[in-house]
Amino acid sequence: MNVRHRRGINLAPPGDYAVDLARETLGSLAEMYVLVAACPACLKNAPIDRWELGRQVGKRTTLANLAKRLKCSGCGNRASNRFLIGKLPRD
Ligand SMILES: [Zn+2]
Repeated sequence: MNVRHRRGINLAPPGDYAVDLARETLGSLAEMYVLVAACPACLKNAPIDRWELGRQVGKRTTLANLAKRLKCSGCGNRASNRFLIGKLPRD
């Protein structure tokens, strides 16, 4: 399903990881977290390269604001896209 990440990463809503999207930025989010964009229209999940995104938009924008700017690569939807969060395994 998600070939860019190793197996065993569970994706969950940010609240499950106690991540506050209104406060966290790409710069403040702990490095163990990965971001996945989820489209409510076609249900596509797409991994985000948070480092590349940070270079593009800066690391001081809140994740809540970034979510508003997401565009689905599957269907082009721009409304109500949201982030899911995964935690990299420590190994
Ligand atoms: Zn979509």
